[in-house]
Amino acid sequence: MTQAPIRIAIAGLGKIARDAHLPALAASADFTLVATASPDGAAAADVPAYTALGAMLAAEPGIEAVAVCTPPQVRRAVAMEAIAAGKNVLLEKPPAATLAEAEALIEAARAAGVTLFAAWHSRYAPAVEPARAWLAGKAIRRVSLAWKEDIRHWHPGQDWILAPGGMGVFDPAINALSIATALLPRFHVASARLAVPEGRHAPLAGSLLFGGLAGPFTAELDFLQTGPQSWDIAIETDQGTITLSLGGARLAVDGVEQVLGDAAEYPPLYARFARLIRTRASEVDLRPLQLVADAFMVAEVEKTAPFAW
Ligand code: NAP
Repeated sequence: MTQAPIRIAIAGLGKIARDAHLPALAASADFTLVATASPDGAAAADVPAYTALGAMLAAEPGIEAVAVCTPPQVRRAVAMEAIAAGKNVLLEKPPAATLAEAEALIEAARAAGVTLFAAWHSRYAPAVEPARAWLAGKAIRRVSLAWKEDIRHWHPGQDWILAPGGMGVFDPAINALSIATALLPRFHVASARLAVPEGRHAPLAGSLLFGGLAGPFTAELDFLQTGPQSWDIAIETDQGTITLSLGGARLAVDGVEQVLGDAAEYPPLYARFARLIRTRASEVDLRPLQLVADAFMVAEVEKTAPFAW
C-alpha cells in the first residue's frame, strides 16, 4: 500500500534549499512541499511563502516536517521552534553552531516524540558506500584529505560563513569529515593550524593532523583555492589505495576509476528522512561537528590578510 506523502516545509530558502532541496522534494514520492519560510519572504515553486517560521506554522497546521536550511547560527532557534510545534525536523549540515546546541535539539526531539535527522549530505555521495565496503577487513596505513575550494565562487557574499559560528573553511570541510567518520575507525584531532583573516572570525585555511589510526592522517583545507578545486580523500591500506574525489562523486581503486550510481545526494537523503519519520526514529551523528569543535580548541591560530569578496 502506498503511503500518503509527508507534508514538509522549508525554513531558510537560500542557495542549498533552491539548488538541492527543492529539486529533491519535487521528485520525491515521500514528501510534498507545502510552504516555505525565509526572512525576505521569497517564494519557491507555487507554495505559500512566509517571512517567519512561527507565522508559517500557525497558518499551515498540516505541516508534518520542517527542513532547516538556514545558516548554522540560527539553526538551534529555528529547529527548537519546529520541534516545540511537534514537527519532524531535518537539520542541514552542520546540525548546530555548537555541540551543546545540538545536544539540546536531540533532547527536545526525544521529549516531543518527533524525528530529528542531522543530514550529512556528503554521506549520500555515490562513492561512500562502495568505499566502505571496499575498506572492510583492510588495515589503514595512511589517510590524506584535501578540501580546497574558492569561497568567492561557491559562496559569494555569504558573510555568515566568516562570522562567529559560521565555521569558515570547515563549512565545506565538515563534509569531508562526515565522509571520513563514516569510513574510518575512530580518530581525533591531534593538532591544527588555522588561518583567520584580520577582521573576520572564522578560518579561511587550515592544516590538521589526526591521531587514533595506525598511520598518519593529514588534512589540508583552503577556501581561497583558484583553478582546479579539490574535494579528495585518499586512503592507503595494506591492500591498495582508494581515492574519493569530487566530494565522493568519484571513486578510484589503485588508480582505476570505478563505475558508480547516480551522483545526486539529496534524493537518497530525503528517502532516509522519510524512513526515519515513518519508523519514528531519529539519527543525529555529532562526530563531524565534534572534530571541528576540537580543531578550534587545539588550533594554533594565525592572523592573515583581510578578506574581501
Ligand atoms: P544561504 O544561501 O545564505 O541561505 C540561507 C537562507 O536562510 C537565507 O535565505 C537566509 O535568509 C535564511 N535565513 C536566515 N535566518 C533565517 C531564519 N531565522 N529563519 C528562516 N530562514 C532564515 O546559505 P546556504 O548556502 O543555502 O547554506 C545554508 C546551510 O546549508 C548552511 O548550514 C550550509 O552549510 C548548508 N549547505 C550549503 C551548501 C552550499 O553549497 N551552499 C551545500 C550543502 C549544505 P537571509 O539571506 O534573508 O538572511
